[in-house]
Amino acid sequence: IVPIIAHYYLVTRTDYTVLPSVLLAGPAGAGKTALTVLLERGGGTSLQAPTKISVPETRTSTKHHTIELSFSNTGENTSNDDVNDELNLHHRDTTHTRFLLRDTPGALNRRFLALDYISSSTVSTTGESAKLKAVVFVVDAAALGDDTTTVSGTSAVTIAAEYLYDVLVALQRRMNSKNTSKAPSAVSVLVVANKQDLFTALPANVVRASLEAELTRIRVSKSKGMLESGKGADDLGSDEQDSWLGSYGTEKFTFHQMREFDVEVDVVDGNVLGNAAAGSGVTSWWEWMISRL
Ligand code: GDP
Repeated sequence: IVPIIAHYYLVTRTDYTVLPSVLLAGPAGAGKTALTVLLERGGGTSLQAPTKISVPETRTSTKHHTIELSFSNTGENTSNDDVNDELNLHHRDTTHTRFLLRDTPGALNRRFLALDYISSSTVSTTGESAKLKAVVFVVDAAALGDDTTTVSGTSAVTIAAEYLYDVLVALQRRMNSKNTSKAPSAVSVLVVANKQDLFTALPANVVRASLEAELTRIRVSKSKGMLESGKGADDLGSDEQDSWLGSYGTEKFTFHQMREFDVEVDVVDGNVLGNAAAGSGVTSWWEWMISRL
């Protein structure tokens, strides 16, 4: 009976804590799993990126995977426990700030996992309760710079921007949602321009510009679809305005427009793997994350 009570205590105890969470999203192959594994091993503040990371075989790319991380006052990554380790949760040093990092798959038919997580502001599942604070959207900056990197004829920048479009619209809708009387808390977005160790990688400012241009193009083609359905621009109802990304009616999309919806977007480069001298590692991403919690 004692183990049963102890187990019950530990399981229910976790439900009292609502941890802040960071959602990791982005197209397949961008480096999300590698980043999760690195942070899980406590590599958040190490300047030296490893040259190779082996991803555990048990980790499938069809489900989300959540890890618990923590940091001390100095910002140091102090913990690498899995959320399922309830015993550790119980004994953890409370002077550290804890948060959840949720890695989600990037395949087209699995993206709903990240999008659903955004729309439900506070997520509560067995043994895990979290409040979304930030989205880290990982892109492969080397693939973005290479026009020949395509998946069935679609370029890497289009694949990344189409997914980012859905993520940003989901964040907009979340802020506009009138379902609750309380305004949802602001969510920040970090677009990480990964793989800077590769010489073909585009720097952050170029990644920003090419994503903004591609998001503008997607927005135009989506609004054409709406107009071609027989309505004039003035007749577009609130539903159409709802799915318009950024400031309504503007010609070009810029990440600044997301401020209207309390969403700050930053684009920062770095690398999870490879020669540290070639890229800036993951330190600035880690510092960004913990400053948003
Ligand atoms: P995910 O689909 O977004 O989870 O991507 P993965 O984490 O599985 O990474 C896809 C591939 O990119 C793997 O072969 C990684 O080893 C590689 N990769 C991830 N980050 C970097 C990086 O910073 N530099 C280099 N050169 N390769 C990386």
